Amino acid sequence: MQIYNKYIIPVPQNLLQRIDRTSSPAHIGKLRNAVDFIVPQNTPVLAAADGKVTYVKDDSNVGGLDPSYWNYTNFIAIMHQNGEYTRYDHLERNSAKVRAGQQVQAGQEIARVGMTGYTYTPHLHFQVFVFTGYNLWTDFDTIEINEFI
Ligand SMILES: [Zn+2]
Repeated sequence: MQIYNKYIIPVPQNLLQRIDRTSSPAHIGKLRNAVDFIVPQNTPVLAAADGKVTYVKDDSNVGGLDPSYWNYTNFIAIMHQNGEYTRYDHLERNSAKVRAGQQVQAGQEIARVGMTGYTYTPHLHFQVFVFTGYNLWTDFDTIEINEFI
């Protein structure tokens, strides 16, 4: 199977203010390859490639600029055909439009941007990752995104 690493920008481009890879203090260690898309709150979040939803959490309404909010992020994870996963964080409460196990297409709206978890400004935290074990919270590593298409 051909390994590719191409994803679309997971927010509507007309709402994208900037792409920021380095401002977040959380983008270190395993999260060093994460990308923040600075957008207004409630911006649609789009699947970055075709895949299957593996995890959805959207029941939190807690967040802000404090690391103690880390575990309160709402997020979605999607598995892609090449063995890579994408993850979308800080989603608005009750905004998920997909369920675990559901197939999605690139560009499909999956949720809305919120301010849940450890977040400094409204944005979508996005990462491409692979599993290094079985635990979604700890056993992963992010991989560099070569390009967005
Ligand atoms: Zn981030």
